[in-house]
Amino acid sequence: MQEKQNTALVWFRNDLRIVDNQSLYDATTKHDKVIGLVLIPAEWLAETQLGFKKMEAFRARFLLESIASLQRELESYHIPLLVKIDDRTSLTQICSQYQITDIYLQKEWTKEEVDQEKGIPESVAVHKSYNQFLFHPDDLPISIEELPEIFTVFRKICEKKVKIRPCVLEPRVLAVENAKIASHTPLTLEELGYESFDIHPNSAFPFQGGSHAADERLNHYFWTTKKLSYYKKTRNGLVGTDYSSKFSPWLANGSISARSIYWAVKDYEQNLTKNQSTYWLIFELIWRDYFKYVSLRHGNSIFTVGGIKNRAYDWAQNPHVFQQWVNGTTAEPFVNANMLELKRTGFMSNRGRQNVASYLAKTLQMDWRWGAAYFEAMLIDYDVHSNYGNWMYNAGVGNDPRDRVFNVRLQADRYDGNGKYQSMWLQKQLF
Ligand SMILES: Cc1cc2nc3c(=O)[nH]c(=O)nc-3n(C[C@H](O)[C@H](O)[C@H](O)COP(=O)(O)OP(=O)(O)OC[C@H]3O[C@@H](n4cnc5c(N)ncnc54)[C@H](O)[C@@H]3O)c2cc1C
Repeated sequence: MQEKQNTALVWFRNDLRIVDNQSLYDATTKHDKVIGLVLIPAEWLAETQLGFKKMEAFRARFLLESIASLQRELESYHIPLLVKIDDRTSLTQICSQYQITDIYLQKEWTKEEVDQEKGIPESVAVHKSYNQFLFHPDDLPISIEELPEIFTVFRKICEKKVKIRPCVLEPRVLAVENAKIASHTPLTLEELGYESFDIHPNSAFPFQGGSHAADERLNHYFWTTKKLSYYKKTRNGLVGTDYSSKFSPWLANGSISARSIYWAVKDYEQNLTKNQSTYWLIFELIWRDYFKYVSLRHGNSIFTVGGIKNRAYDWAQNPHVFQQWVNGTTAEPFVNANMLELKRTGFMSNRGRQNVASYLAKTLQMDWRWGAAYFEAMLIDYDVHSNYGNWMYNAGVGNDPRDRVFNVRLQADRYDGNGKYQSMWLQKQLF
């Protein structure tokens, strides 16, 4: 009872949602006064040494839409949401201004995310929880040190031994007075230093940020069009919105949880169809979990050039070659088409990503971390674990036991036999 007098801060990070949110549930059930906070690190808005911002406009816009959606949803729980550009002093300042006694946040372990936590004053009680996994870390039958280096081994252990938990219960609706403790401070794209822009007409991801949009997408992909029933056949596609689920941007910032997608698939299987495709979506979500476990196991070596394998290759750092890759002016039309899609839309298919990554790292033998940094800047769905995990995998310094090089011409023939995808992006642009 005593605790309920204290003021809690829920620091939303990559868990920008209300449904299935452990931090929000814990804070609202233990405290009567709760404030929400989103911090946008100032470093994300600054240019990196490679000549682009750490977060370019596509993800920035999606993030702001996600935050606006969260704020609207929190209103019905009478929880105000503060949004700040963080120069590393915001946490200390907010904790002091609102006399915060407790802070609730999703547990992160990668370097920059951990560094951001340094502003939490020592006097504040910190409550961290894992809320980004499908298989909860506490339920794994192996220790993190025993994490298999091969995905299939990990998947089989989890599928056999781990039950997916139900989603976390809804947060408590607080008294109306709680809404008055703080007022929401919206930010615009321009205030973050970006110009506004229109979504490209050919974008494979023309969707908005936020939980509401994520739910709409799930309803469309599962129940309205029943595309989920064909996912395994279409998932290597390149053109259009429906060849794959497109859940990744919402998953990356946590507007939807992997667990709620899992339970929606189970619902679909029970009430409509259960087949290889419905299973395969879960299979891909397990890949997502696996890369999170890989980074949990290997720490910051995922950011080193030798990767988790600590492999020594002779990587080149040639700005001219890199710019050709970035601008889609290499010798390979299929690579170029994919890179132009990324540049114009902030999205690229999984098939495309594998090809352009392999081409940069294996064929051009360029430092794969430059490619990863560019993806980090451009992708709407940038996720530290999936991005660096997949890049290491494709560069031969990660978990791929086969260490393959993609033949991009054969890949283009196989996945874009009629050239539709390539001509879509390579034809002269009117804008
Ligand atoms: C070099 C490279 C970089 C990548 N960077 C990212 C990234 O920053 N963020 C990101 O979310 N994904 C990344 N991926 C993985 C994958 O390409 C995207 O998750 C996928 O294309 C997103 O589209 P979708 O949601 O329609 O996927 P679907 O095919 O519908 O898959 C459903 C979900 O499963 C997960 N998933 C699918 N494939 C993978 C995979 N290979 N690794 C991890 N999770 C997967 C995603 O969460 C995805 O939303 C990267 C892949 C490569 C090869």
